[in-house]
Amino acid sequence: MRKITIAIDGYSSTGKSTIAKRLANALGYVFIDTGAMYRAVTYFALEKGLIANGKVDVDSLISSLSKIQLKFVPNPSLGKSEMFLNGDNVERDIRTMNVSEHVSQVAIIGEVREKLVALQQQMGEEKGIVMDGRDIGTVVFPNAELKLFMTASPETRANRRYKELLDRGEEVTFEAVLKNVRERDYIDSHREISPLKKAEDAIEFDNSDMGLDEQFERVHNYTLRIIASK
Ligand code: C5P
Repeated sequence: MRKITIAIDGYSSTGKSTIAKRLANALGYVFIDTGAMYRAVTYFALEKGLIANGKVDVDSLISSLSKIQLKFVPNPSLGKSEMFLNGDNVERDIRTMNVSEHVSQVAIIGEVREKLVALQQQMGEEKGIVMDGRDIGTVVFPNAELKLFMTASPETRANRRYKELLDRGEEVTFEAVLKNVRERDYIDSHREISPLKKAEDAIEFDNSDMGLDEQFERVHNYTLRIIASK
């Protein structure tokens, strides 16, 4: 069967990656979480002291970009890939509140986006890919055969994220997570370059009141119809 490109965009913590991962597994496609790439660059900047008092040293980060090597390495025991930064597994480090609090500032930098978008386009050259992010259907793969745009209320999303962080042992409050979700939504959808917006031909999917299995069933069935029609 012909392989297609699937772009899943939407606000933070809408469950994009969970659905994208399940869909990729079901179809035998590659799954790429582009948020992990922006998070890894942010983690690099934090580690190198290029973010101080919430402000990113943009020029230094841009000149360090050539020193950043990103790779997704499959971990068969987890059934997913993990993010490696310059040879180190940073999968856990990139999911902290500290990274979440700075990532949108890093993601507004044009040179960062240029580097990551080029890498993402390379990864999708052969199709058979499910990629999730903010600009996948609009900028990275404007010709994707299937585009989904996921939304859910900020409270629902913050609640999901809050539980994830608690499970990982982070000490956070629900209010802090909700504030971060709202701030990222704002910055991501108001930035000048590649803002988060629904592609005209994307299908909107609000999953505020939907369980994971139901969401997956719907998306999977829809995807199979699209693939069959190609
Ligand atoms: O998807 P996740 O919430 O992990 O993404 C983290 C951040 O990375 C987003 O809030 C956004 O600022 C940035 N991002 C982006 N473009 C993408 C994916 C993520 O700007 N394609």
